Amino acid sequence: MSYIIAENLAKKYGSGDAAISAVDNMSFQIEEGEFIAIMGESGAGKSTLLGMMGAMNAPTSGRLVVDDIDIYSLGQEQRADFRREFLGFIFQSFHLVPYLTVLENVLLPLAVVKAGKKKKRAMAENALAQVGLLKKSRRLPNQISGGEKERVAIARSIVNEPPVLLADEPTGNLDTKTSQEIMELLLRFNRDGMTIVMVTHSPDCARYAQRIMRVTDGKLEEDDNSKVRSLDKWQKRERKRAALLSQDLTPMAGSLHTG
Ligand code: ADP
Repeated sequence: MSYIIAENLAKKYGSGDAAISAVDNMSFQIEEGEFIAIMGESGAGKSTLLGMMGAMNAPTSGRLVVDDIDIYSLGQEQRADFRREFLGFIFQSFHLVPYLTVLENVLLPLAVVKAGKKKKRAMAENALAQVGLLKKSRRLPNQISGGEKERVAIARSIVNEPPVLLADEPTGNLDTKTSQEIMELLLRFNRDGMTIVMVTHSPDCARYAQRIMRVTDGKLEEDDNSKVRSLDKWQKRERKRAALLSQDLTPMAGSLHTG
């Protein structure tokens, strides 16, 4: 049985003649461990779809089942628990709290988790280590670069080790090299078993996914899972490219990055 099942999902905003059909009768299945890119024009319904998958936006009709749980049949509180346990979110704007340090930002989602202070700190430090930012854990968000902010946001989204990561334009505000680093990071999480669903406009980012779902006018136009690429071959090429790039580019860290 598939891990995520969407059955005739639909979302309308407004009512009567003025109603907008943002997501129109979509059905698809996602297996555990897949890395999916959702692509489409602005206004096509991508964010609405991702919001529904994120248990944040109830469909007007249809069903969404994750790990055998019919998400929208759950009550508010149970759904919030589901979100906390199952899902990590990455958004284009990082939503870091400016007066909290990097470490404190990553600790935030653990506020509601039942665990001792030490354990929580270890979890947050582990997440920061995974994104390569442990050394900068005491900095404030305005003391790190855009790419590093995104990495903090990613550390925060995985601190709870969710099985599913939902990302909405995770590299939308980043330069090419930093975007590539972020995508490499997501790819690593995916290789470690995380299911990833990412909305992106960027064909470069979509190349990291195994499957591309194209959305047009609220409909699933194309679902390309036939070409599961030879990842090893592709990864070798990427490594070569990354090595070449790192030779002639100044480090991502600007003058602020001393630690
Ligand atoms: P995308 O993420 O592909 O840009 P969205 O899912 O944001 O598309 O939007 C799909 C359609 O639904 C658009 O026509 C948009 O204007 C409309 N829409 C999105 N959110 C709302 C909302 N909260 N209220 C009314 N209309 C909305």
